[in-house]
Amino acid sequence: MRNNGKVVSYFYDPEIVEFRYGRSHPMKPIRIGMTHSLLENYGLTQKMNIFRANRASKEDLIQFHDEGYVEFLEQITPDLEYCNNSKLNQFKITGDSPIFDGMYDFCKISAGGSIDGAMHLNHGQSDISINWSGGLHHAKSNQASGFCYINDIVLGIQELLKYNNRVLYIDIDIHHGDGVEEAFKTTDRVMTCSFHKYGNEFFPGTGNLTDIGELDGRKYSVNFPLDDGMNDELYFEYFKKTIDAVDKYYQPNSIVLQCGADTLSRDWLGCFDLTTKGHGKCVQHIRDKNLPLLILGGGGYTPKNVAKCWAYETSLLIDNSELPEELPAHEFSEYYLKDETLYLTPIGMENKNEKIVLDKTFEQIYQNLKDIVPVPSVGNRTRPQDSIAMDENDKPYKFYKKQSNKNFKNEFYDLSQDRNEKLYKNKYDPKKFSPFIDPKEKKVKKEKKAKKKKKKKGSKKNKKIKKESQK
Ligand SMILES: [Zn+2]
Repeated sequence: MRNNGKVVSYFYDPEIVEFRYGRSHPMKPIRIGMTHSLLENYGLTQKMNIFRANRASKEDLIQFHDEGYVEFLEQITPDLEYCNNSKLNQFKITGDSPIFDGMYDFCKISAGGSIDGAMHLNHGQSDISINWSGGLHHAKSNQASGFCYINDIVLGIQELLKYNNRVLYIDIDIHHGDGVEEAFKTTDRVMTCSFHKYGNEFFPGTGNLTDIGELDGRKYSVNFPLDDGMNDELYFEYFKKTIDAVDKYYQPNSIVLQCGADTLSRDWLGCFDLTTKGHGKCVQHIRDKNLPLLILGGGGYTPKNVAKCWAYETSLLIDNSELPEELPAHEFSEYYLKDETLYLTPIGMENKNEKIVLDKTFEQIYQNLKDIVPVPSVGNRTRPQDSIAMDENDKPYKFYKKQSNKNFKNEFYDLSQDRNEKLYKNKYDPKKFSPFIDPKEKKVKKEKKAKKKKKKKGSKKNKKIKKESQK
């Protein structure tokens, strides 16, 4: 399907919305369903080839991950949590990255979409492949990290490397793309390039300008550390400069773009002030490089804003077209405010990024790029087999069944509409905002307390009145 634009393969499994990390957990798989619903109701699903991805098999997952780790993910369930303490600690499936029902299936869907997406690009079936369920960039080969268990990105890139000599990985999540960088830090066949908040112990704490890769991969890891309050204008200016320099010196054969939406203004865990259009401009810039492109999701913790952002970016990817501001009526409409529109506005946070520092950072990156071997190539080699055979399952998938939102209510405790305004006033401190404090619960508790106080006051007042009337 080519609509005066690109051939796009879009991977979506409707079951993704059934998974729950936990009520108070900020990661909400439902945002993928909300994105899909906007795509359907904006008429965008008709402009793409839609696929339900083959779920990744254990064989696929161990192409990067340790077998023991994958076997543990396969077996562990919330019921068995208490008998496996040492393994849980070993594999870091604790705290931020909890066990939840169906966790392994969730991982297989996310990874399957990225591997299939890469295969479509390898075989010329699409110009662009999109998997909003992917982009889980923190997972390590033998450890979970930051809500990520299986690194679908690494698996997707490994698939691309079967047909492409040089793959460029770009990460616009607010957190450093540490898992992907670590996986490819010793090779020149993948250049990783991450733009992220760095400093003040912001998670994951890596991604300094001086982290440039090792051995054959030295200077093939690019990190652009940033500070709080980044706005559209400056973000795009340095994003474009850096990416154009990377493109000039590395000349990739294909690109993987992780579109983490926690860089958006009002994100529950983020501290930047980007708008949907600012975020989208970066995606558009990469699209216009006209290389095979794998688009993945990632972070993003204000579900409705994530859905708006990824729906808008899907439209840009298909044919560079803007969408009407007014949100179409759809099954999640009740979770958006009545006057809410597709495009976010900035809240005007203080931008702590000084131009002089950004210029110095860029200068250093540019110097490193100039030192790399221009366009490293790969000698003759036998091409490894494709991960999954392209079979009859690989036909466009039609979704006849409408999604239902009847069980999703608990997934919306999203009070972040005013969150950044509040944070801004309180001098933002990300450490104070543990992802495990549910703002709704907090509000309910506060209200209860206030009611109790009022009641007490009321009864005191009544007693006083009684006493006075007795006098
Ligand atoms: Zn993130």
